[in-house]
Amino acid sequence: MDTGNIETAFPEQARARVMALREELEHHSRQYHVLDAPEITDAEYDRLFRELVDLESAYPDLQTADSPTQRVGGEPAATFTKVSHRTSMLSLNNAFNPDEVRDFGARVERAIGAVSGYVCELKIDGLAMSITYSRGSFVRAATRGNGVEGEDVTANVRTIRSVPRALAPLDGGLPDELEVRGEVYLPKGAFAATNTRLEEAGKPGYANPRSAAAGAVRQLDPTVTAGRGLQTFMYAIDPPGRIRSQAEVLETLAALGFRVNPHRRLAGSIDEVLAFLEHWSERRHDLDYDTDGVVIKVASLAEQAELGTISRAPRWAIAYKFPPEEHETQVLDIHVQVGRTGAVTPVAVLEPTLVAGSTVRRCTLHNEDEVARKDVRIGDTVLLHKAGDVIPEIVRVILEKRPKDATPWQMPEHCPACDTLLVREQGEVVRRCLNPLCPAQRRELLIHFAARGATNIEGLGPAVIDQLLDLGYVTEPADLFRVTAEQLLTLEGFAERSATKLIESIASRRRVPLARFINALAIRHVGEHTAETLAAHFGSIDALSAATEDDLLGVEGIGAVVAAHMAAWFASAEGRAVLEHLRDAGVEPERAAGGGGPWSGQNWVITGSLEGTSRVDAEARIRALGGNPTSSVSRKTHAVVAGASPGSKLEKAQRLDVRVLDEAQFLAELEAAEGSP
Ligand code: NAD
Repeated sequence: MDTGNIETAFPEQARARVMALREELEHHSRQYHVLDAPEITDAEYDRLFRELVDLESAYPDLQTADSPTQRVGGEPAATFTKVSHRTSMLSLNNAFNPDEVRDFGARVERAIGAVSGYVCELKIDGLAMSITYSRGSFVRAATRGNGVEGEDVTANVRTIRSVPRALAPLDGGLPDELEVRGEVYLPKGAFAATNTRLEEAGKPGYANPRSAAAGAVRQLDPTVTAGRGLQTFMYAIDPPGRIRSQAEVLETLAALGFRVNPHRRLAGSIDEVLAFLEHWSERRHDLDYDTDGVVIKVASLAEQAELGTISRAPRWAIAYKFPPEEHETQVLDIHVQVGRTGAVTPVAVLEPTLVAGSTVRRCTLHNEDEVARKDVRIGDTVLLHKAGDVIPEIVRVILEKRPKDATPWQMPEHCPACDTLLVREQGEVVRRCLNPLCPAQRRELLIHFAARGATNIEGLGPAVIDQLLDLGYVTEPADLFRVTAEQLLTLEGFAERSATKLIESIASRRRVPLARFINALAIRHVGEHTAETLAAHFGSIDALSAATEDDLLGVEGIGAVVAAHMAAWFASAEGRAVLEHLRDAGVEPERAAGGGGPWSGQNWVITGSLEGTSRVDAEARIRALGGNPTSSVSRKTHAVVAGASPGSKLEKAQRLDVRVLDEAQFLAELEAAEGSP
């Protein structure tokens, strides 16, 4: 580039600002699109982007093809196979206020004369996805990537339940190859659950549901994707065949078996469009997913074709972005909180503020690195929003309002509850208190034990647990089942009736489904989903506690970290005591479906290859009888099945004196057990 020319064509100041903005936007775009870890809010990004658009339109010579204003998304990651899109996957131009929406309408009318109508759809804050069907069957899924090339995420998208494997028949038939586009997103509840799980594991949570959805889709292990609870809304179809309008596109998608967002409007005029925007900017917090705006599309596909596209976006659509809900408030204090797995989290205590429909008093600061990055200090005035509409978060400090005496915040070195030295393990962002008797962890454990998703004891929330702990009535889960009505009557807010009711509700939870019981134990890395996997596999708490680390690793969906923590927990004196005391208190989890049966609690190992049946089928039949197919031989193994060319497991079985069966004996025992009542 001839710098001499540039300097004469536009002021140096504008050039410098354009360069600085590009660099900043490139950085944030990579954080957002490639790493799923944005450092600033979308609203802040949009402000910078808009500043660049404005400068480039004031000084058109500054606009070059490599500017972020001319490109879509980020480069596909090298860890995935690249997929070339049949037609480019574009972005959308933005409108930030009603005037800009009117301008869009005026531009469209100038280009093609009268417009027959607009379709307004909620803008789902997820990840754009292209899904290809061949002769009606799901064959491939790809991310948008840079718009031209995306990432092959077929195996991961296959795990999303709302993506049909086969399309429903359509009047007039289907083209051989059909592409469907839409959004993969994470519902608000699943977003919050993902972050809780990650933070408990010492990993950073996602900044918003969009990043969490992108992170879930771009996993290398599809079972991780499957456990995150992704959802979809589809909105485009290619080729459209006989379809004439966007409204018909949506109807056809629904008829083919896709999830289509029900909140949409066919608007005859821009005024009707504006009414839809107003309606949803107030109502959007009621939805169970995050929407960051409304996409307004020219309804007729013929009119869309006439309008065409510019470099990175169609001319026939615009994304109206809802104004960000950001509020100023003051940081009154920074506390540290000890979680049930000992993770120590800094929490900002705030001047109460109303954000996105509820009053926020506290807000997590995640970990010490995050406090340092944002440089949040006690006394600071901060901008507060809710990430994904759910999690209150400090966007940034308003430095101009910082008190002169504010000092940088320091993470304490010792546990605030028991004074044990905190430990930051390698690769983790959190510090932990590793003292199993730490009172703060005990409190969190009891709260978790009684919560929904665990034993679900109605009426036993944090306020009651705090009092029970303070009065010394309980120290561990088993004690909850020994609390008496007389003790409850000494607590604040209890009368005869409420005390009896709580005692009854505690007693009714002596029997809970196995998965909920496992979850209630609050073993690190084991949440609801993992607990379900374990319950389905092992069927009983005895079989689970007898499992070795190798057995656990053999369970589909259980990784090395979970297996190691589970095995260590069941082997530990504290873990064994918790279980034993619960048993003594009469708590007995229900067996999981399929966990009962004549082989219940028996661990079976198959080694070598089977000839009369496949190993997968054999293991499924063992499971159906209540047994546990496991991968390693120990003294707890019930029997080893030795197929052709057995490995070292056979030797180990002989050494440990474990019963060994050949394939014929095994099949005979299987059939006999299957025939037994
Ligand atoms: P976009 O998200 O603003 O809009 C385009 C996308 O909207 C489409 O690709 C599609 O995936 C999606 N969409 C959702 N619902 C839709 C519907 N009903 N119909 C059609 N499309 C629908 O644009 P983008 O190019 O994906 O990303 C740019 C945006 O991402 C920015 O405006 C900014 O908000 C955000 N961003 C944030 C950061 C950050 O650091 N926070 C960085 C880069 C980008």
